[in-house]
Parts: sequence; structure tokens; C-alpha cells
Amino acid sequence: MYPNHQNRFSRNQKPLNKRRNNEKTSEEFLREIRAAQQRQQNIQPVSQTEYSCQHTFNDFAIDERIKRAIVEKGYCEPSPIQDQAIPIILTGRDLVGIANTGTGKTAAFLIPLIDKVLKNRTERIFIVTPTRELAFQIDAELRSFSRGLNIRSALCIGGTNLGRQINDLRGNPNFVIGTPGRIKDLIQQKVLSLSNFTNVVLDEVDRMVDIGFIEDIRYFISLLPVKRQSLFFSATIPAKAQDIIKLFVTNAVTVSVKRTEAADTVTQNFIKIEDTQKKIEQLHDVLISKEVEKALIFGRTKWGVQKLSDELVRRGFKAGAIHGNKRQNQRQHILEQFKRNEITILLATDVASRGLDIEGISHVINYDIPASYEDYIHRIGRTGRANKKGVALTFV
Ligand code: AMP
Repeated sequence: MYPNHQNRFSRNQKPLNKRRNNEKTSEEFLREIRAAQQRQQNIQPVSQTEYSCQHTFNDFAIDERIKRAIVEKGYCEPSPIQDQAIPIILTGRDLVGIANTGTGKTAAFLIPLIDKVLKNRTERIFIVTPTRELAFQIDAELRSFSRGLNIRSALCIGGTNLGRQINDLRGNPNFVIGTPGRIKDLIQQKVLSLSNFTNVVLDEVDRMVDIGFIEDIRYFISLLPVKRQSLFFSATIPAKAQDIIKLFVTNAVTVSVKRTEAADTVTQNFIKIEDTQKKIEQLHDVLISKEVEKALIFGRTKWGVQKLSDELVRRGFKAGAIHGNKRQNQRQHILEQFKRNEITILLATDVASRGLDIEGISHVINYDIPASYEDYIHRIGRTGRANKKGVALTFV
């Protein structure tokens, strides 16, 4: 164990000053985690690992070429969300999928939608995600499923070349995948019209609501054809997401794979900040431990994350940072370096990290506490994936 670890939060510790009106102090935050962990102990832990699959990929009435791509990708059996959602989407019904990242939800909607396109080349699919990284990942997954199938997509995200996106859209791609800001721009520039998208996916709606995209989402829905297949995915359903569900889906089937609040594979620990001036030393001690193979460190502000990254690099760590002040291609470059283990420490803000799917993160470190318990769950969900063990450490 690490020298500075404290499993228990000291009762004598003074609560930190509230940072913003709606943000929690360390103590409030810890209470919330403890209560949630208690709740979780009381819930029969029905996790994905205990789910017994009803289908094999072969059972699905999908094009053989997609089945071959699934085999090539090395997917042996459907994940629980795929097992439940794919047959429903294939019937053409609307769906509300309650699932977090890491459950295989991307393939759960892409597989039946690619099949739909192969059956009818005029089908058009519109996918909206909260972040550029997530949109990029969906596009990459789409490409890997549809290699050689002549299915085109346009990735419409901010921070990248607009001209190229306009070109891609002029080619009437089957899939348009994007983030709200850029999509709105393209609609207003009359390069993109939503009126012929009869398939729509809203992904990670809870995050979109958090970031403040709710009005954009309502605007997009108002432009969509009434007759459409609507797929809604979210890890949680806060009240504002309920409103979107009402507006968006018709007679939907709800499937949920989110049984436990945090993955059973993640060990959660806390590090008591001895002295805020020396917090970086405590982090340094953690990072030099041999157990830390690959760490994702969360900070609250773009500025703070960058400063911490610079300091770690100065100290000889292989670190990089992603946040909203970095250009899209810089962020992508750093993510690729992290994926290839050229850097082993990635620092990120919540927004920049949403939807990230990176293998082998041994530790998630909350250098700054998250704004909410939900953010905490999202953050720690980046480790302990695919049933590997992970550790989440939170500075309090
Ligand atoms: P997602 O929740 O869509 O972000 O997917 C999380 C990760 O699981 C991605 O790396 C996928 O490639 C992977 N994945 C998705 N479906 C399966 C499956 N049926 N078997 C194995 N891995 C999968």
C-alpha cells in the first residue's frame, strides 16, 4: 500500500471551503461516497459478469459481413447491453439504454444500424455525443465494423477542419456523428439538414445535460422527421434527461445494464491531503509506486491540469494533459501516446475525458475531488474495465 494512504477520513479534518456554490466540500463528498458504497453493499451485486447471455452474435439476423467484422474484432459474445438492445433495435423500435461507457453500448447501436444501411443504402443515421473524443471513438468503431462495405461517415466535431466536414457532408454520408456545437454551426450554415435522418442516436445524454447542451438537443429534435427510430443512451436519467426522453422516443423499450453503482473491480481509496502545499509530493509518492502502471489523473480546471502536467514532466514523469484549451489534434495526439504507453500518465478535466475508452488504466487519481458523485462514478469507471482490477484514489 502507498505510504500516504488513508482509508478513513479523519474526523478532525476541517472541511475545505466550498469552492463554488453548488460544489461539495471534501467531507460532504466523502459522506456521499460512503453512503453510496453502503447502498451498494445492500444491493445484491448483479454485475455484468453475472449476466447470462441470451444470444450469440450468430443468432442476430444481421448481414454476414458484419458478423465477420465482429469475429475479426475478437468479440466472442455480446455484452449484456448488446444482448438486450440489438434484437430490439433490429425490430425498428425506439430504445432507452441505461448503460455507462465500457459496457459495449457503441456496438449495441452500431451493429443494427450498419445492418439497416446494408439493407437500404438510403438510410441516414445521426449520432450526437457530448464530446469530440467520444464522437471520434464512435466513428473509429464504425469504420472498423464497416471496412470494405462502402459505408461513409462524416465526423462533425469542433476543433477540426470545417472545410473537410462540409465536403464529407456533401457526399451524403450514411452516418453523421458529431458534437452539438459543430452540428449546430453546420445546420445554420445550411450544410447539414436533419430532415432526412430517420435514425437518431443520442449518446451519453446525462453528460450532454451536464455540459449544458440541452437546448441544442431540443433544437435538433425539432428538426428531425417525426417518423424515425430514436435511440437514447445515458448512464443515469436525471430530470432533464427525462424531459428529453419524452420529447425524443415513442413507445420505447428500456434496457438497463447499470445494476451496480461502481464496478466491483475498482478498489476505492482516499488520500488525506496533509498540507495543500505538499499535495504534489504526495502525488509523486503514489506515482513512483510500481503498482501504478498507467494512471489517469483528474483535475478540476484546464489551467490546473496543465500546470500539474508540466510539473510532472519536469520531474521526469512521462505525462501529458488533455483539456479544453488544447486543439483537437493535440488532444488526439496525446491520447494516442497514452494508448501506446509512450506516456503513462494522462491528466484530464472531466469534460475532456468523457467517454474515453483506454485499455489498461491501473489507477484513476482524483487529484481534485469531482463536482458530483456521478462525476466520481464516471471518473473511476475508466479503470477496472473488462473485468481487470483497478484502483481509484481520491485526494481529500
Ligand atoms: P463502449 O462501452 O462502447 O465504449 O465499449 C467499451 C469497449 O468494449 C470497447 O473497447 C469495445 O471495443 C469493447 N467491446 C464492445 N463490445 C464487446 C464485446 N461484445 N466483446 C468484447 N469487447 C467488446
